[in-house]
Amino acid sequence: MNWLTNKVLPKFRQLTTKQDTPDNLWIKCPECGQMLFHSDLEANQNVCSHCQHHMRIGPTERFNNLFDEAKFDLIELPEVPADPLKFRDSKKYTERLKEARNKTGNRDAMSVAHGKISGNPAVIAVQNFNFMGGSLGLAVGEAIVAASKLAILQKAPLILFSSAGGARMQEGILSLMQMPRTTVAIQRLKESRLPFIVVLTDPTTGGVTASYAMLGDIQISEPGALICFAGPRVIEETIREQLPEGFQRAEFLLEHGMLDMVVHRKDLKETLARLVDLVTQRKKKPEPASAKKTKKKPEPKETATKETAKPGEADKSPEDPAKAEKNLKAAE
Ligand SMILES: [Zn+2]
Repeated sequence: MNWLTNKVLPKFRQLTTKQDTPDNLWIKCPECGQMLFHSDLEANQNVCSHCQHHMRIGPTERFNNLFDEAKFDLIELPEVPADPLKFRDSKKYTERLKEARNKTGNRDAMSVAHGKISGNPAVIAVQNFNFMGGSLGLAVGEAIVAASKLAILQKAPLILFSSAGGARMQEGILSLMQMPRTTVAIQRLKESRLPFIVVLTDPTTGGVTASYAMLGDIQISEPGALICFAGPRVIEETIREQLPEGFQRAEFLLEHGMLDMVVHRKDLKETLARLVDLVTQRKKKPEPASAKKTKKKPEPKETATKETAKPGEADKSPEDPAKAEKNLKAAE
């Protein structure tokens, strides 16, 4: 009996009570202070169900939310010189990099993937604010160049999610050089007549706002995102005036013509799918096949009915796999 109660029973208890009850089951909304259940929040794409505050999310969540069936291929990005200036503030730059890599599991602040959005091929680049404030340095510059090249190769639109505190000061002028460099990369995309869609997320500031993040053919933002070059506090201190409420927030910028739309995260995939469908040439390509069949019928009616049909559904799916394969082959 002793052996049972003293040795076996405690072990049994240990096994049965050892349930995972991590501390992070509840998350406090930074905006309204409401406690939110972890799995509910995750199901809600990290948007507070009480005040609709959009929390910051990383590349993996973005890719999972946006690509069809959460299927995508991550691009291996080119290596860049580590710590070219041997920079050190309170800590060595190499140490900061190491910490950020351990924290996020990413090599640097920009991740690029390709896959499909409602059947259309697309390249998506996501900047991760968790990685040293998403700062723009050599690696991010390289990632944007690579994303642009891939989009051109695949004849696919490039969708970029920006989120950054600005340029990476640890790389000094080399990080500032990424501003013209990424601008040229986006220019090449435009010369290839491919759409560049930017989704500005909280916060997009500094050198990122002053370069690629404002060059989109279509500028979208998530609600409440801070978008600016210099932050409100700096401006207030400089001009010594109180700024209007909501200054530099997405809704304010939309009202003042800096954005095309502010889209809730839950509607983002649908909106992007619709836009990609509208701006790519894919709609025109299937026409020869249908034109052959309906040559005798007047053409305007045919196109009219086509447009009323929901995009990205039955009428398009047969062509998609073949085309995507071609694109992939071309990419290889
Ligand atoms: Zn909230």
